Amino acid sequence: MEETYDVIIIGGGVVGCACVFELTSRGFSCLLLEKNEHLAAEASSGNSGMLHTGFDATEGLELDCIQRCQARVFPLLDKLGVPVNHIGATMVAWDEQQLERFPQIVANSNAAKCTTMHELSCSELYKREPNITCGALGGLWIPGEAVTDPWLFPVLLANDARKKGARILLRSRVCSVVRNTEMWIVETTRGTFNSKCVVNCAGLYGDIVNILAGKSEFRILPRKGQYTVYSKSAQNLLNSSILPVPSDVTKGVIVFRSVYDNVIVGPTAENVDSRRQAPVDESIRLRLTEIAAKVVRELPSHPVVSLYTGVRPATDVKDYIISAETDRKWITVGGIRSTGLSGSLGIAEKVHSLVKTSLNIEPDRGQSLFISKPDVSFTRHGSAIVDGVEHFITHPLTFAGRTEYVANSRM
Ligand SMILES: Cc1cc2nc3c(=O)[nH]c(=O)nc-3n(C[C@H](O)[C@H](O)[C@H](O)COP(=O)(O)OP(=O)(O)OC[C@H]3O[C@@H](n4cnc5c(N)ncnc54)[C@H](O)[C@@H]3O)c2cc1C
Repeated sequence: MEETYDVIIIGGGVVGCACVFELTSRGFSCLLLEKNEHLAAEASSGNSGMLHTGFDATEGLELDCIQRCQARVFPLLDKLGVPVNHIGATMVAWDEQQLERFPQIVANSNAAKCTTMHELSCSELYKREPNITCGALGGLWIPGEAVTDPWLFPVLLANDARKKGARILLRSRVCSVVRNTEMWIVETTRGTFNSKCVVNCAGLYGDIVNILAGKSEFRILPRKGQYTVYSKSAQNLLNSSILPVPSDVTKGVIVFRSVYDNVIVGPTAENVDSRRQAPVDESIRLRLTEIAAKVVRELPSHPVVSLYTGVRPATDVKDYIISAETDRKWITVGGIRSTGLSGSLGIAEKVHSLVKTSLNIEPDRGQSLFISKPDVSFTRHGSAIVDGVEHFITHPLTFAGRTEYVANSRM
């Protein structure tokens, strides 16, 4: 007999993992379907690992989700044992025009009640960040910006849901979805499953999954981001993440320290045709080295330990798309472009509220909000054992951070 769930979630990126975590904790029986062999192997494996405060987010759903996530994420990371570094960020102005933009950036952030910011004079800036290259005119100190492990977090969210009864099914590509009078019938490469409702969290393939359900709400316009990762030997060159002043077109390339203390330069932003991750382009690699030197002169003298790329599931609208089709009980979570890690728990809260109030689905169990700390150990060959289940590390920052860590701990 086919298995029946309250909710089927399509996609095991950070957004799908947050949704299965939230809905299972709230008592819904859930099945998460992921086409790849591993969780968090697409857009969620190519990000910067930053937990943004939302100071520059688009007003609307994105900002709301980031703010909701900010209110919950740090105690949760602590309970799950996911490392976090409240390192803060410093936005640096390199010319007068950039300096003139600071009051507006502070005013926007204050209006959105996002975070505190402090303007820094040139001497205050170099006191905080003595290794940045000469020539900066001033800075903005944003203490609330943090970095975390962008791979461990979604994996542990899904693991918590699994321990509470959710089924996490990998290598299960959704091929067709059909609605009868009461149920969705979801056909995958590993069998057919039924559910009262479906949440589409398919990221870079979100538009394609929506088309399976006869919907054409949006189209994914993939945007590639490229990075250079320097050895931890460079970690003392930075005391915070160094942000450029954003332009109307791009947030620009950041020089930052991962939660495992590698120093990273990226991401860039290129519109591309392919939704698949591709290698770093040679011209971009050279540009990233130039940017590294422009921001922190000594950085390029340290070894590069990795290059990686990520693809953002962008659309032609700036904001997130989170919508519910109440008759057929289908929820779309699409276009979670550049802040999905920072907004994940807020997105999941919204999805829970839509399932309950718009779709009128009642959970078939009681709530289960207690978080038991998982047992996590990293292996020497690039995976982690989480409560007895092996997960391959798909994120280069976790991989570089943990393997350098493992290598050092052997000495
Ligand atoms: C360069 C870059 C930098 C970024 N930096 C940050 C940052 O610092 N902080 C931050 O908060 N955010 C950042 N982001 C954004 C963040 O990574 C994304 O918003 C987030 O990963 C989107 O997650 P998702 O779950 O929606 O998509 P995905 O991670 O793509 O997950 C969707 C999943 O659905 C699966 N799927 C698709 N189709 C099917 C199907 N038919 N059947 C079954 N499964 C299917 C896919 O295999 C995939 O695993 C960045 C993104 C990029 C690319």
